[in-house]
Amino acid sequence: MAEWKMIDGYEMVIGLEVHVELKTRTKIFCSCSTAFGAEPNTQCCPVCMGFPGTLPVLNEQVVHYAVLAGLATDCTIARYSKQDRKNYFYPDLPKAYQISQYDLPLCVNGHLTVETSQGEKRIGITRIHIEEDAGKLVHDPEKGTLIDCNRCGVPLIEIVSEPDIRTPQEAVAYLQKLKAVIAYTGISDCRMQEGSLRCDVNLSIHKPGEPFGTRTEMKNLNSFQSVQRAIEEEYRRQVEAVRKGEEIVQETRRFDQTSGKTSSMRRKENANDYRYFPDPDLAPIVLAPDLVEKWKAELPMLPDARKAAYMSDYGLTGYAAEQLVSDKALADYFEAAAKSTTAPKTAANLMITEVFRLLEGEGAVIPIAPEHLGKVAELAETGAINSGAAKKVIAALWTHDEEPEDYVARAGLRQESDEGVLRGYVRRAMEEHPDMVESYHRGKVNLGKALMGAAMSLSAGRANPVALQRLMDEALQQK
Ligand code: ADP
Ligand code: MG
Ligand code: ZN
Repeated sequence: MAEWKMIDGYEMVIGLEVHVELKTRTKIFCSCSTAFGAEPNTQCCPVCMGFPGTLPVLNEQVVHYAVLAGLATDCTIARYSKQDRKNYFYPDLPKAYQISQYDLPLCVNGHLTVETSQGEKRIGITRIHIEEDAGKLVHDPEKGTLIDCNRCGVPLIEIVSEPDIRTPQEAVAYLQKLKAVIAYTGISDCRMQEGSLRCDVNLSIHKPGEPFGTRTEMKNLNSFQSVQRAIEEEYRRQVEAVRKGEEIVQETRRFDQTSGKTSSMRRKENANDYRYFPDPDLAPIVLAPDLVEKWKAELPMLPDARKAAYMSDYGLTGYAAEQLVSDKALADYFEAAAKSTTAPKTAANLMITEVFRLLEGEGAVIPIAPEHLGKVAELAETGAINSGAAKKVIAALWTHDEEPEDYVARAGLRQESDEGVLRGYVRRAMEEHPDMVESYHRGKVNLGKALMGAAMSLSAGRANPVALQRLMDEALQQK
């Protein structure tokens, strides 16, 4: 990702609001199923459709899961919290209010640590609260706009960050970390494409030292890339507007994936426009400390703990370790590979470069046995194969997994380190390109690289590159 550049000394200030769908079997206030992808309006009942006279009953697992999210992000868990009605009309909200939490959320004052180009940075989490999702509007070209209520009442947590983020890279790093942490706890699938993790970006600009500017909000971004692009574009737009002397309006803006532009949707409501009030049908949530302790004991080893272990056990950089822990399945894979090999650091590098490049999409599975990756790393580290061959082996095992040594033998990829043989390649390369050798000696030293490439080709990519380079240099000096 290219590093973003500040324009005219304006710093961007960003706070993220992230909605995560919880993986409970049933909805937050009724026993309807939360399964994704069912026929429209087959998973709803009078409660989640808000018929008068029905009563919501809070699903305990929602509280349990939200508390796990809070504990995993170092939040303080409120002993006493309550649920409030947020009143607004929209066709996907049959009740005309959403049950959420206003002034007393379940979790407060947490943080996450992310890797930035300046090292580690802590980003504050203001709060995590529970709420219900709305339904979905389906725009059909013939039938018009249809309403699917299956999503009404699906449980969500909203995770609100402090305005601590200063670059698009930090925003993406925060989101990646949050996604990893939540996924490790097992409370959500965190699939951005399916909408089980959605992000709203709040952004303003100011000169460092001056008060924050007015913010705009971009809603429901569903990939890391759109978050980054929306931020870059909105920053540019705000700087441009301020330069022209225009005022930034507090509003909700839409980010269009195709044009890469943001456009105004509506002026942003203030909290008092929603007429929040405590839901009279729901009792306050009172949590006994020993219950919270019990839930805390369920937490698995989280990304930061694994990251620290990889740095101390295998000598990885913070940046490399952060990438490996970004997905639990990938981290588990790396650990299995690392345990099976004498070259764990090389295995980590091969994973970050080759394996990540070949992996496609969220939740994709690596088709190579972890011990095989460990073996490729070992062959590379001991010099049995060179780094170019290591890439070829991984690509081959990707389509047909087998013992790496069998493939290396069959494909003739063993590294050639015999000096006599390597000298032969050097001599032939120089004989085949006398013009290059001559120009080299007249001062075009860059041609040394081309000659080296020619010699490497003659070895079918198998030459030990360090030895070959040394012999090539010697030969060119002698002439
Ligand atoms: P709302 O509920 O209206 O969206 P919140 O107070 O919950 O408002 O804040 C939403 C997000 O906006 C938070 O993530 C916060 O960090 C961020 N935020 C607040 N002020 C600014 C600002 N001046 N610039 C950028 N982000 C901001
Ligand atoms: Mg908001
Ligand atoms: Zn229902």
